[in-house]
Amino acid sequence: MRRALTPLLALLFALARLHGQDGEGLPAGFKYSATRSADGFDMPVGKPDAVGYYRSRGLIVGRHMGDDWNGSGGGNTDLGAPVYSTAHGLVVYARDARMGWGKTVIIRHAYWSNGRWNYVDSFYTHLHQIFVREGQQARRGQLVGSIGTNRGMYVAHLHFEIRKNLRIGLNQGSYRRDLSNYYKPYEFILGRRKLSGGNRRVRVPVNTFRLQARVVDTIGGGSPTRPERPSSLQRSSDFRVNRYSDPLR
Ligand SMILES: [Zn+2]
Repeated sequence: MRRALTPLLALLFALARLHGQDGEGLPAGFKYSATRSADGFDMPVGKPDAVGYYRSRGLIVGRHMGDDWNGSGGGNTDLGAPVYSTAHGLVVYARDARMGWGKTVIIRHAYWSNGRWNYVDSFYTHLHQIFVREGQQARRGQLVGSIGTNRGMYVAHLHFEIRKNLRIGLNQGSYRRDLSNYYKPYEFILGRRKLSGGNRRVRVPVNTFRLQARVVDTIGGGSPTRPERPSSLQRSSDFRVNRYSDPLR
């Protein structure tokens, strides 16, 4: 009897440990998907160190919640230049958000730090083209899009954010524009170039933000068009952000 129970107990202990790790810090109720944990973060242009690019603007609390990357050639010389995933992660948004953003990609990352799994969203916008689709796994350094002007609204540049709050999505106006919801992207990456606990299959919460826009142009080029589970994407627009009292940080 004792012999038969041992494997079962071992399995239960393993499950309990997994549960404790993955769910920590996250309110109940989110759906989960899987991704590869980040083994480090790189700059989103001129990979991995932004060679050939400069930051024309950094994060200014309350006004500009990310970094603007421009090619060192100036003007629109960087139009169409490659934009890379800052780390391994899951593409949770890849659409034309229209208005001030234009074509936008959001990638969700899990990384091990301070004895637990942490989650951030990287946000790439004003893109000329999108080369990934929602639900796709992105590897660190993978091409996700190209630098654009948002239909001539700006001189070509990449606007890039790192969010700690996974609920923001395209609903920036609903969340405080401060460091409780956003990281300074450049500093965040510099402090996490190499991470332990990378390249593991881990759970990440999905459907955490409301999708405003209809799918206008999911794929800007390259990959075959195959929207990932449109029914689940549709349902996520019904997600109510006020359901949980404990904000996701
Ligand atoms: Zn910007």
